[in-house]
Amino acid sequence: MLSTDSSLQNSGHKYLPNITDFNHPPSPNQELLPLTAKVNSNDCLEIGGCDLTELVKQYGSPLYVVDEFTLRTACRQYRNSFLKYYSGESQVIYASKAWSCLAICRIVDSEGLGFDVVSGGELFTTLKAGVKGNKIYFHGNNKSIEELKFAIESDCTIIIDNWLELTHLAEISAQNSQKSVRVMLRLTPGIECHTHEYIRTGHLDSKFGFDPNQIPEVLSYVSQKPSLNCVGLHAHIGSQIFERQPHQDLAEVLVEWLQKAQEYGLPIQELNVGGGLGICYTEADDPPTIAEWVQAVASAIESACHNRQLPLPKLIAEPGRSLVGSACVTAYTVGSRKEIPEIRTYIAVDGGMSDNPRPITYQSVYRAVIANRMSAKLTETVTVAGKHCESGDIVIKDALLPKTESGDILVVTSTGAYNYSMASNYNRIGRPAAILVNQGEANLIIQRESYQNLIAQDCLPARLIDSDKNKD
Ligand SMILES: *Cc1c(COP(=O)(O)O)cnc(C)c1O
Repeated sequence: MLSTDSSLQNSGHKYLPNITDFNHPPSPNQELLPLTAKVNSNDCLEIGGCDLTELVKQYGSPLYVVDEFTLRTACRQYRNSFLKYYSGESQVIYASKAWSCLAICRIVDSEGLGFDVVSGGELFTTLKAGVKGNKIYFHGNNKSIEELKFAIESDCTIIIDNWLELTHLAEISAQNSQKSVRVMLRLTPGIECHTHEYIRTGHLDSKFGFDPNQIPEVLSYVSQKPSLNCVGLHAHIGSQIFERQPHQDLAEVLVEWLQKAQEYGLPIQELNVGGGLGICYTEADDPPTIAEWVQAVASAIESACHNRQLPLPKLIAEPGRSLVGSACVTAYTVGSRKEIPEIRTYIAVDGGMSDNPRPITYQSVYRAVIANRMSAKLTETVTVAGKHCESGDIVIKDALLPKTESGDILVVTSTGAYNYSMASNYNRIGRPAAILVNQGEANLIIQRESYQNLIAQDCLPARLIDSDKNKD
């Protein structure tokens, strides 16, 4: 729950987590700042025992700062909630597309979670982080032959999305006769949920998964392929979802198909319900806690199975955003200011759409604090602009902040999910560094991209160099 101390309502303190007992932390997805956020004696924001202004001095800005405690807490809350609310076997897997890098994969692995990957690159990263292939689920609606072979060699479970992939996989796996390939089938469940159109995936008009009316044919095809060991069904309805009902509806649909699949003699014993739990980007967001979400999903599966007198399947969930989103903030340095009388004041920061493309892609709304003056009164409404050559490059429209000056450190909250992973080099701006903080220790987990890094993949054909002769 967000702090409501009225004496602080007017300052950056209002976004601090209200945490009294670190042994029973609140659900990270309901907080704007990481769980360890506090204000130190210099009136600066501290996360994981590290002063954000000091981190920027040392590592520069923009800077992603990841709080290890918050990330681990989210992992534990998911696992413990499944143990508490589901009587069958369960597995939580991290949808690593939210943020795939070695350090984050390693932390999540050490918490006992599995992984969902959607490309050869994410699979490579996860394996390099030390994760065993048999804990990895390979997704995607257009996997290449190379990716399928890589996934098979690595001992992953492959979530089959469509007919082309199914026939490719049947061929490849038949050549490799020693061992069958563990696969699951992705269904489009036909469930609508209230989220941005681009992150909705479960309605019928979706590029992902088999249409329900194809399923009987798919099941009968798979049942004739001994090289494919079809262990389960998968569906994912979308992302940044606050409602519980669509997840409960999904449970009903999946259990119905689980029962039908058994008529084809398939050993289907696993249901993967996808991810999708939302997080707080502003104080108006009101997602259920991790425990509440798990309880809703688990009890819906249990009652659907009970009604059909089916044994409980192994239940898999694959959250991304709600594991990593609230664990990270992005620190920027404030630069230029433009006041347009009666219209708007812009303040510009040293990053923007290249490190956080969500506002320009999904009109996402964020909150920020001024990390070097946390108690300052919030006196003006300004638009925080990025530095890219794009009018839509706005970090926050109408942010309520203290009067800012060039050199202030502006910290945007809840930037762990789909920020670094969707970052680009637009305008040839290097991607920021990322720092992991924990109990006063700060470790670099991703280096800042240098100018040299930016041209590292560029090639100059010799004839272009030769043609320089004609220059004046
Ligand atoms: C993106 C995605 C997830 C994770 O979604 P979140 O909203 O980040 O929890 C899980 N499964 C699949 C198949 C996805 O595409």
